[in-house]
Amino acid sequence: MAEATPPTPRSRIFSGMQPSGEAHLGNYLGALRQWVQHQEEHDCFFCIVDQHALTGGVSPDALPARVFDLAVSFLAVGLDPEESVIFVQSDVQEHTELAWLLNAVTPVGDLERMTQYKDKSQRLESIPAGLLNYPILQAADILLYRADRVPVGEDQLQHLELAREIARRWNSRFGEVFPEPRPILSRAGRIMGLDGDAKMSKSLDNTVRILAESDEVHRRVRTAVTDPQRVRRDDPGRPEVCNVYTLHKHFTDPERLPDIAAQCRAGTRGCVDCKAILADSITEHFEPVRERARELAATPGRVREILEAGAERARAEAAETMGRVREAMGLDWRSASP
Ligand code: SF4
Repeated sequence: MAEATPPTPRSRIFSGMQPSGEAHLGNYLGALRQWVQHQEEHDCFFCIVDQHALTGGVSPDALPARVFDLAVSFLAVGLDPEESVIFVQSDVQEHTELAWLLNAVTPVGDLERMTQYKDKSQRLESIPAGLLNYPILQAADILLYRADRVPVGEDQLQHLELAREIARRWNSRFGEVFPEPRPILSRAGRIMGLDGDAKMSKSLDNTVRILAESDEVHRRVRTAVTDPQRVRRDDPGRPEVCNVYTLHKHFTDPERLPDIAAQCRAGTRGCVDCKAILADSITEHFEPVRERARELAATPGRVREILEAGAERARAEAAETMGRVREAMGLDWRSASP
């Protein structure tokens, strides 16, 4: 397994996110917040991976709006198109071309042993080939930009390890083109959903939209599961096992945390009050983000321009990689001697 060491100055970073609409707290804590920091020190490519979403059976009617809404979230949290290349995967056709070519060096057995494939395929009667090949497209996303670092959560480490293996195999057969990408592990760890049971995700409906207004944030946070030992309001609680407290650590003023923890342990503050403080902290944290999102939503043409310009920069980089790849793999028949 590749060691997750800090990136060197001006590493090239690639990261992608599926378009599930507006970003939620899990997207923000697990990825977007770190992406904003990376862009100051590194060359970053941030991609809305709409082709990956197809393996989940997303409706064609819903997909364009989901891409647009996620782009607004990217920009509203502070991803800067002047600093980073921000684009949509399907605008750069070389992603799927490279994925096809990487099939040539990827054994089916490697794909079949991926944990995510095993989990998801178990639940399906008919398994789309795209589900099996998903990690090859992910490898292509990264290798197309010759990225040497990839911010990931723990659950993506296995796919990144496979991308490294694919790069190694391809390089040893066709010549050195691809760096072996190394992980930058998310500092936030696994962000649990409000149900306290599973990773935060929109499909499980256990999260909060980062652009939600105060009422919605309060309504959602009120449903959060807390320490199961607290049955009555004055039962002593354990903040260290409570997901609400974990979220306080991300959003509430650090100076207030000792009091919140102490009052929980003493049973002098009820969970309803504690959640209300968290909801206020989240609402306040995202106020400037909501403000920027409102401005962006009012100028959709500007958002489209940003994505177009990002795709152009991405295509230039992709063309350079693919020129080398096609030549190395013998796909330039015009170079044959008569
Ligand atoms: Fe969790 Fe707060 Fe309730 Fe303690 S008081 S169990 S930290 S919600």
